[in-house]
Amino acid sequence: MNLKEDYHIHTNYNDHSASNLTVKNIIKEAERKGLELIALTEHVRKTSEWISEYLNEISEYKGKTKVKVVTGFEAKIMCNGNIDCRDDIARDYFIIASFHTRYYDKIIWTNALKRAIENKYINVIGHLAPESSFQLDTKEIEEFAKLINKNGKIVEVNAKYKRPPENWIKIFSKNGVKFHLGSDAHSLNEIGNYESIMKLIKLIA
Ligand SMILES: [Zn+2]
Ligand SMILES: [Zn+2]
Repeated sequence: MNLKEDYHIHTNYNDHSASNLTVKNIIKEAERKGLELIALTEHVRKTSEWISEYLNEISEYKGKTKVKVVTGFEAKIMCNGNIDCRDDIARDYFIIASFHTRYYDKIIWTNALKRAIENKYINVIGHLAPESSFQLDTKEIEEFAKLINKNGKIVEVNAKYKRPPENWIKIFSKNGVKFHLGSDAHSLNEIGNYESIMKLIKLIA
């Protein structure tokens, strides 16, 4: 786990983040904090109209900064397991797939997650945790670990939501799942800040 990497940072392209969360300010903040790699992962939808502007702005900084910049998106997992992202975008960029709608039905949730893990365009499963209405037992979590490994996916350890839960991290870690860190920053000061999840990070072998 490299504490100098942050694979989950939002921008001001949607209106849910701080207005000063510009690409330029994010890169400046990452350099100031001595980060080595950042991924810009704004929330995308199939209908997002700002995508080309976002891509153009990021490309202006590529190769010109001390910090390595990855161009990406966070896409929501829908109840059928598809993601709310255009195929051509998902294919070409770094994609975090996350649950943003709560599926309280364990079968719907489980099937959607399986399909997302099997989606070849997805790189990372973001802030993973079961909903409050159900739990998974050790065997079920191990099955997900196998599927994640088989499909070459990474599991994010997310500072905003403090996820995955401890027992998931332990079981995943024991089964060789690869992790990386994401602050899920919606403001500049949250970039690369993992104070809230040091306990989780220490569980990873
Ligand atoms: Zn999210
Ligand atoms: Zn996010």
